[in-house]
Amino acid sequence: MVGNELTYIADAVKRGGTAGNGYYTKCCHRFFEERYGFKKVLLTSSCTDALEMAAILLNIKAGDEVIVPSYTFVSSANAFVLRGASIVFADSNKSNPNMDTELLRALITPRTKAIVVVHYAGMACDMDAIMSLAKEFNLYVVEDAAQAIDAYFTDRPLGGIGHLGCFSFHESKNISCGEGGMLVINDEKFIERAEIIWEKGTNRASFCRGELGEYNWVDIGSSFLLSDIQAAFLYGQLEKLDEVQTRRYQIWQHYRQNLILPENVFPSIPVYAAHNAHLFYLVCASQHERDALSAFLNQKGIEALTHYLPLHKSPFYKHQHDGRLLSNALHYTKTLLRIPLCYALDTVQQNYIINKINEFYHELPNKFEAPKKRIAI
Ligand SMILES: *Cc1c(COP(=O)(O)O)cnc(C)c1O
Repeated sequence: MVGNELTYIADAVKRGGTAGNGYYTKCCHRFFEERYGFKKVLLTSSCTDALEMAAILLNIKAGDEVIVPSYTFVSSANAFVLRGASIVFADSNKSNPNMDTELLRALITPRTKAIVVVHYAGMACDMDAIMSLAKEFNLYVVEDAAQAIDAYFTDRPLGGIGHLGCFSFHESKNISCGEGGMLVINDEKFIERAEIIWEKGTNRASFCRGELGEYNWVDIGSSFLLSDIQAAFLYGQLEKLDEVQTRRYQIWQHYRQNLILPENVFPSIPVYAAHNAHLFYLVCASQHERDALSAFLNQKGIEALTHYLPLHKSPFYKHQHDGRLLSNALHYTKTLLRIPLCYALDTVQQNYIINKINEFYHELPNKFEAPKKRIAI
């Protein structure tokens, strides 16, 4: 809760329009279209749904190949597998968990249909390289910008560069409404059909604008809309976006400046990436060190979490993977640790965390008392 979330929920109920595509949905749509210049956006009930809409819009079918990083959340791949695609997993960079664009060209075959890029921790992938490769081979680019609200590639907002972009408003993201998401349609040719897929395969959105006398079943689709009750909550959060982002960035910088660690343990940020302080992670020297640090922090009442297991080694997909090792993805699975970063984290808590991490590495004496409550991510 950072602003008017509950007031807006009560208002949504009073207005009587609690289903999808209501008053607050339109407020949220306008917010994104005005603030970031996105051509067209549609709130969905999750980023997973937005990715599934993307797969339908791109007509992904059996036999198509889609390139997806291995070090990501399952939905980045699963949305395309649902349509019958084969996933060709890409490795991470050596210097950060994003996909290694230099290896992409070698993964493209005549069957490749799309590249799904994931901006890990809200840090931009090399979108110039990816978009020019996509142009050369006539491929679509879907940005999984689940973690990337208000983050930029040079001066361009993430989610607004590929043909389609997908955001998440899950509880774990910078801005949330419990569960929620959004599809951004940057390529105009997809706009009309996106609305139809969004509304269960009907042209209801067009009907609601008064463009049709009745609405009918015209395509495939599903119930991808977000309830206006959740959109009301989301709008309350969006109004406070700058405040949330300023505070998160402060926390991020405070870690960066006060943790006494070798340079290569910190996130490595490419020059073109203006990140959004979605999370703060450390890359430990070994799995042993990471596990020891994690156990140490958890024992001190500080939640510290690893992140993704590599999808190419998952029980569901390992037998379909082509056998490439993808050693950088494995490296992040073994060595990456996330430490608490949320809007509500106060400076006393953060200084305690900093002290404990410095103590782990340097056995520095602890200056701060432990907070009474466990500090969550
Ligand atoms: C959170 C996340 C998702 C899933 O978002 P939902 O809104 O929970 O469906 C997908 N991809 C990435 C990279 C994520 O971080």
